[in-house]
Amino acid sequence: MNNDIKTFQTTLKDHNLKLLRRDITTLQINTGLLCNQICKHCHLSAGPKKSELMTRKTMDEIKTFATGYTFKIIDITGGAPEMNPDLPYIIEILKGLAPEIILRSNLSALSEFDNDSLIELLKDATISITASFPSINEKQTNVQRGNGIFSTSVHMLQKLNSFGYGIEGSGLKLNLVSNPSGAFMPASQEDAEKRFRKVLMSKWNISFTNLFSFTNVPLGRYKTWLKESGNYDSYIQKLIDNFNSEALENLMCRDLMSVSWDGFIHDCDFNLAAGIHSGDRKTHITEINKPFVNGSAIITDNHCYSCTAGAGFT
Ligand code: SF4
Repeated sequence: MNNDIKTFQTTLKDHNLKLLRRDITTLQINTGLLCNQICKHCHLSAGPKKSELMTRKTMDEIKTFATGYTFKIIDITGGAPEMNPDLPYIIEILKGLAPEIILRSNLSALSEFDNDSLIELLKDATISITASFPSINEKQTNVQRGNGIFSTSVHMLQKLNSFGYGIEGSGLKLNLVSNPSGAFMPASQEDAEKRFRKVLMSKWNISFTNLFSFTNVPLGRYKTWLKESGNYDSYIQKLIDNFNSEALENLMCRDLMSVSWDGFIHDCDFNLAAGIHSGDRKTHITEINKPFVNGSAIITDNHCYSCTAGAGFT
């Protein structure tokens, strides 16, 4: 990296800011790095050849931990969580342990599941679905995520709607996540949501709950692509130029703890991808009985600029 680039820690100091935890309300669980897609922007470099997968033993350890504390949200992510054969198991043991449980899906992995049995299970447990749907442009989506992914995703959104997901009044949330296809900042979330809502409804009769815009994080496969395409330094500089000190207030790491597939604790999924452990010490979920305390420091690095650029990433 260019040595002239100002570190995130220095930027915080210049603004007289510190990134500190509040009470932890969200438990994020990474069930593994196995994925059926090889997306260009993936900060975890997940893919079909990955062997990291959460076991039932770690799932049981997480359940024991979650039972002893009150979380508002449990957020299940991957890789593609659907690629972990024990996804139904972890849903069964965690349901009821938080008012909201979210499953993050790339949609195509959900479509590979047999007989809609997983959708039935999610619906019965009122699990919210947060689905990657980067763009309403078919070509852009397929370039970023793989051939045919756009049409598979549209088909899955229609199917989820038919189960009540994303339909007003059903109580079943279907949120979408979009992200830019290249080394640039996302469009305004509000404008993107309006555009997606209009196009998805008029072309494919698809409804959804909310849309979140995501700034690509310069880690993993996306970092490799930025470096190979000569965009890395200019991308980081763009994030720095868009630094918004007010975004710090709502950063997810202030209220969230993230557990890796092998049970270790991180401040967020990005720090997990960067190999940064909470408190700068490798701590297993079985070594603690409650989250790290309110007021303690969160470890940051330059990828944190993605979370503070523009409207921020909460
Ligand atoms: S990457 Fe974002 S969420 Fe994670 S520690 Fe940095 S600022 Fe917080």
